[in-house]
Order: sequence, then C-alpha cells, then structure tokens
Amino acid sequence: MADSFRRKMTAYEEVNWQYNKAAEALGIPEQHKAIMRNCYRELKVQITLHRDDGSLTEFFGFRVQHNGARGPYKGGIRYHPSVDMDEVRALASLMTWKTAVVNIPYGGAKGGVNCDPKQMSEKEVQDLTRTFTRKIDMALGPYRDIPAPDVNTNAKVMTWLMDEYGRKHGYTPAIVTGKPVNLGGSKGRESATGLGVYYTTRHACGDFEIPLKGSRVVIQGFGNVGSWAAKYLHDAGAKIIAVADADGAVMNDRGLDIPALLNFAREKKTVAGFPEADVMKKDRIFGVECDILIPAALNGVITENNVGEINTKMVVEGANNPINPHADHILAEKGIPVIPDILANAGGVTVSYFEWTQNLQQFYWEESDIQKKLESVMDKAYADVSRMAKERKVLMRQAAFMVAIQRVYDAVLLRGI
Ligand code: NAD
Repeated sequence: MADSFRRKMTAYEEVNWQYNKAAEALGIPEQHKAIMRNCYRELKVQITLHRDDGSLTEFFGFRVQHNGARGPYKGGIRYHPSVDMDEVRALASLMTWKTAVVNIPYGGAKGGVNCDPKQMSEKEVQDLTRTFTRKIDMALGPYRDIPAPDVNTNAKVMTWLMDEYGRKHGYTPAIVTGKPVNLGGSKGRESATGLGVYYTTRHACGDFEIPLKGSRVVIQGFGNVGSWAAKYLHDAGAKIIAVADADGAVMNDRGLDIPALLNFAREKKTVAGFPEADVMKKDRIFGVECDILIPAALNGVITENNVGEINTKMVVEGANNPINPHADHILAEKGIPVIPDILANAGGVTVSYFEWTQNLQQFYWEESDIQKKLESVMDKAYADVSRMAKERKVLMRQAAFMVAIQRVYDAVLLRGI
C-alpha cells in the first residue's frame, strides 16, 4: 500500500479514495471523473440560538449538494457536535452513489448542524431547526433538494422543517421525508433502513455461504437502523449476541431477547442496564466473535487501530462510512466480505423516495405494498452489485461504486454536460 494511503484521510478523502478506484476501473475520462467527484453546491450558515437560560449560542449549519444529474438532491440532516463541512461533503457524495445503486431518481446531498441536541431542550431544538431551515431555504425545494432525518434528528424535526418551509412556500409535504405518518409520512419509513439491511444481509448470506438462521450477529448502535435490523434478523432466526450504544453494551452468548431489549431501549433510551444480559464495555463490541458484524452507529468507527480485533465472517455496513479505507484493505486481505453502506443501508432513502412520490400524488400506500416495493428495489440492487463483483472480479464495495458511477456518468452524458 502506498505511504500516502497510510496517513489519516478525512472522511471526504476516504469516500473519494473509493470513488477514484471505481471510476478508474470503469475508465471514466479524467474531466468527468473530477466533475462527478466534486460537490455542486456547498452552504455554510451561522445559526444563533437564544437558549432557555437567556444566553446566546452560535452553531454552524451545513448543506452540501453533491451531484444532481439523476434527479433532485436527497439526503439527511444530522445534529451532532462532530458535524463539519468535510463530513457533510463525504456523506453527500455517498448519497449520490447510494441513490444510483438502488436506481431511484435522485442525486445526493447531506446536511447537519454541529450541535448536541441531548444538551438542548425540545424548544431549543425546534428553534434551531426553524432557523436552519430559513437559512438554507433558497437551496431547498420538492424538485430541488429534499432533506430527511439522520443521526439525532427524527420525524418531529422533519415536521418543524416542513412547517417552517411551508410558512413561505405554502403546504409542501414533499419538501422533506421521514415525517410522521399522520402528516404525510410514509408507512414503513421508520423501519425501512433496518429492513433494507436485513434484505441485503439475507442475500449476502446466500452469496458468502453463511446460514442466516442460527447465525451470530453483533450490532453497534441500537437507534433507528440498529434496532430495526436487529428485529428483522431476530425474526429470521439469527441470534443477536451483542449490542452496543452510546451509553453501554450488553451481551448474551445464547442470543439476546430482542423483543424485550426493544421494549427496554424504547423506555430507557439505551440498552445499558438490560437485565437479561452480561454487561460489557461498549468499545469491546468489535472484538466479539460472530458471523455477521453490523456497525450501525457512526462513521469512522473501524480503523487500522481496531480492525485487528474483528472476529467475524462478514461485515454489513448499517452506518454510513463506518470503515476507513485502511481497515477496509485489511478486511479484504483477511478475506472478510464487507457489504457496503451505499447498498446495505439504502432502504431508508428508497422508502423516502416512496414517501416523496406519495406526497406529490397525494395518494397513500399500505405498509405491505411499501415493503414489497422496497424488497424488490433492494433485491435488484443487490443482484446488480453482486453481478458486477463477479464479472469484474472486484469486492462488493468497488462493485457498488462501479454500478453507481456508471449510472451517474450515463446521466451526465445524456444531459450533455
Ligand atoms: P440514531 O441516532 O437513531 O442511532 C444511533 C445509535 O448509535 C444510537 O443507539 C447511539 O446510542 C449509538 N451510538 C452513538 N455513538 C456510539 C458509540 N460511540 N458507540 C456505540 N454506539 C453509539 O441514528 P440512525 O438513524 O440509526 O443512524 C445510524 C447510522 O446509520 C448513521 O451512520 C446514519 O448516517 C446511518 N443511516 C441512517 C439511516 C436512517 O434511515 N436512519 C439511513 C441510512 C444510513
């Protein structure tokens, strides 16, 4: 491996490293390679918030539109102290490739504010959301850029965004996805990413000869993605043996009682303290021996410093960009398949697409229809990536990028840019 590769890359450099490798393998001409790598529009806005105690706090909000060749920009908004322009660029780029892998008519975007909502009151989070919406309003639109929830944002935050946007533009439910069902949200959106992780894992188990029933699964993160993935994998007969969240980790070698853990976590907002399990340190989670490891918390959690601990037969990326390229390379050398984020966690944006479609036509579908449609999109995406991997003899991540880049490149050429 080149020495330059060994230095610490930023999140955006990491995504571009994967992008460059795949674009080169496809033989994309240099000037198009750069156009598709770089971001189209980047907004950084100052947000001043009057706190409940009368003080004033300054935050920064970001919205990056990466590529819109295949449709309106689409991507989540996250509230987290680590949010900065580089991270948002990385995540926006991943959205371009993700929407292309599942072949839905969107481009890629991402946004966020560098705040810690856990240290804020609900009123403060609402005020911050409304101010952020007003400040990026000029770049949004139901046919221009459609936000969604991400880390530490939820249906409530999306409702405030829709409401604030609507004050200026009138009733526009299609401005945002991930809304509550009784305000134009889609049935099945909340569970969609975790269900998509399950569909993908099921296919990957077939491909890599790991029997899903009875398999030992470890999950980092028990929020939206991790908890729903756990539910569907448990329902399919897998044993979830360890789960970690920000406040702790629990383990049971015979398999955690997932329905009980879901109830516990819903009430206590953490898995820590779940009675029918052994306690473990949350940073030991990757060392637990298992068949399937699912990072479903934050980006950048598996690096050259901890990849050596990993003792699994397969990694399925529920989170965005959880593995840095160095660690990815080490996993590849060890022969551990990685099912990449842009495929594995694309169920969320797929059902966001269904939500947007329903908002535009003002006609709503049943959850069973949505799950059937999601399954069909995920099945097709998995088959496209798996075929590319086999035909070009590349790993699943490179194959997913190649499928996506080819689709975006075709759109760019058709538009005549
Ligand atoms: P969430 O906020 O609902 O849950 C995040 C979980 O990670 C929580 O359980 C939290 O406690 C845990 N966590 C945070 N820091 C941790 C740490 N240091 N160690 C262990 N656990 C930790 O967020 P989410 O929506 O489930 O998103 C998780 C990941 O999946 C993110 O990378 C996000 O970008 C990605 N993603 C989410 C969706 C979606 O629809 N929600 C779609 C695609 C990708």
